[in-house]
Amino acid sequence: MQQLISQIEEYKKEMAAAQAADAKEAEAFRIKYLGTKGVVKAIMGEMRNVAADQRKEAGQLLNEFKQYAEARFEELKAGVSGDAEQTAAIDLSLPGDPIPLGGRHPITLMRNRIVSIFQRLGFAVAEGPEIEDDWHNFGALNLPEHHPARDMQDTFYIQQNPDWVLRTHTSSVQIREMEKGKLPIRMLMPGRVYRNETVSARSHCFFHQVEGLYIDENVSFADLKQTLYFFVKEMYGKDVKVRFRPSYFPFTEPSAEMDVTCFICGGSGCNICKKTGWVEILGCGMVHPNVLQNCNIDPNKYTGFAFGMGIERPALLKYGINDIRLFSENDLRFLKQFTHAV
Ligand SMILES: [Zn+2]
Repeated sequence: MQQLISQIEEYKKEMAAAQAADAKEAEAFRIKYLGTKGVVKAIMGEMRNVAADQRKEAGQLLNEFKQYAEARFEELKAGVSGDAEQTAAIDLSLPGDPIPLGGRHPITLMRNRIVSIFQRLGFAVAEGPEIEDDWHNFGALNLPEHHPARDMQDTFYIQQNPDWVLRTHTSSVQIREMEKGKLPIRMLMPGRVYRNETVSARSHCFFHQVEGLYIDENVSFADLKQTLYFFVKEMYGKDVKVRFRPSYFPFTEPSAEMDVTCFICGGSGCNICKKTGWVEILGCGMVHPNVLQNCNIDPNKYTGFAFGMGIERPALLKYGINDIRLFSENDLRFLKQFTHAV
């Protein structure tokens, strides 16, 4: 017993003198005294050599010894962290950590630009589902089943229900707006659309459109032209020239495609405009009476125009991007270049 007491005293002195300069040294202390093969465990093992009548007293002693070792370890550990805090004292005069700002996607930038021009003319924004039924994507747009013009758009059908498609244009949102029956309508429909096309640098299986729809009494083709003239001047500058070419869409009659003088070469001819000096930017026309009828709008009382344009192409041209796939690859090196773009 006496031997045990002197041993404990010895170790206590040792522990009292122990110092730890860092967390590693504090941990070394813990392993030496409190570890599974440490001093405390070893002394506990001495218990079996203590006479039975002294065991209670020895047990108490050992308990105190263990508690002392634990307390010392906590002290050494606290001392270490205390020192660390001192060296890293907060300097309130330092500038704060910068919060990295995200940027808008180039497609969003272009979309917002287009939308803001038409908003100044009183167009509101409408959105709709990307999975559509056949009626809203085709039927109501004067494209009944087996209509050859359905082949103009390579469609993704939903396997579980062939009546559902990934919308091939945002015209489906026009139908939904007309079905609401609130006239007049002056709406923009921006959104993502899907076509079953081979992905390449120039085309993708999904892309974005902005469509517009204006329905009221006495809306004429002249209104359509004036609206689009205004848009083009705001979008591409006062000097840009415009031409309309007759075209065909099942949902408009008459239909036209609109070209503007190439905004890269100014009309003299370059690779972008294939040496023609003109760039096609949108399709448009007067809403077909069948479409109005399909949406319970009286075509004898109301007329309207519609137009639609892709967002990818003007964005490619504006930012000098040569591959449409970059828009959807989420490569930060690409996206970061637009952090400050407008
Ligand atoms: Zn050109």
